[in-house]
Amino acid sequence: MPYIGCHVSISGGVENAPKRAADLGCDTFQIFTANQMQWKAAPITKHSRDIYLLEIKRYDYHYVVSHDSYLVNLGSPDPKKLAMSRNAFIEEIQRSTFLKIPYIVFHPGSHMENGDDFAMQTIAESLDYCIETVTDSTVALLLENTAGQGTNVGYTFEQIDTIIQRSSYPDRLGVCFDTCHAFSSGYDLITESGYTDTFKQFDNVIGLDYLKVFHLNDSKKALGAHVDRHHQLGEGFIGMEAFYRLVNDDRFAELPMILETPGDDAHYAREIKLLKDAIKL
Ligand SMILES: [Zn+2]
Ligand SMILES: [Zn+2]
Repeated sequence: MPYIGCHVSISGGVENAPKRAADLGCDTFQIFTANQMQWKAAPITKHSRDIYLLEIKRYDYHYVVSHDSYLVNLGSPDPKKLAMSRNAFIEEIQRSTFLKIPYIVFHPGSHMENGDDFAMQTIAESLDYCIETVTDSTVALLLENTAGQGTNVGYTFEQIDTIIQRSSYPDRLGVCFDTCHAFSSGYDLITESGYTDTFKQFDNVIGLDYLKVFHLNDSKKALGAHVDRHHQLGEGFIGMEAFYRLVNDDRFAELPMILETPGDDAHYAREIKLLKDAIKL
């Protein structure tokens, strides 16, 4: 059975997240380990970490996913911004390692009018630099596919594969598949044949072994719109069928699947239950 969960807040301290997630019915969850809109992160104390790890044990979570800050652009052509991004990413790896989090999900980056190839090369070099700087970590860095909004790269499987192949550490990398982003970038998930074809392409181009986490989001925008607008499951253009297929796909039966849909906690609890009830595996 896949692990179903959602993004939860760390307000009041990271140690509050495991219970908050459990109360919503999560068997996995995603957090920001720091304020995602600020460059300077407050350090996590050892006390906080120790309580957090006890809570992880208490609720028996196998997977926790950290989502990197939205400010980070590992493909930036601006040397100052690139240095800030790399430093922030290094700190993210350090915090996640400290919390024994196995996966960091990050948006690959944007080229700011310097072209996709430039960004892909810079991102691969950034990943190598960060991996080489934090020598005591084994955390896997998961490139999230993007909707291709603005100058973001990572909106095709080929681009994600290129970044992985250009890195010297492909074993430390993986992919987080966001359903809204994939659909918005042009991969059909609505029909059975679209679904089958999308994952066949993923396997041919990147390899399903690299797929470690799902973000389950419906889309407010149509197929190929290249706009990143999440919607509640079944309310958007993708529709419920794709999500029922995903949670029952035995290729993904051991993977964490995380909701990032808009709304309050009650809607998360409702969507988690909806998905769990649909699992026939
Ligand atoms: Zn996502
Ligand atoms: Zn998104």
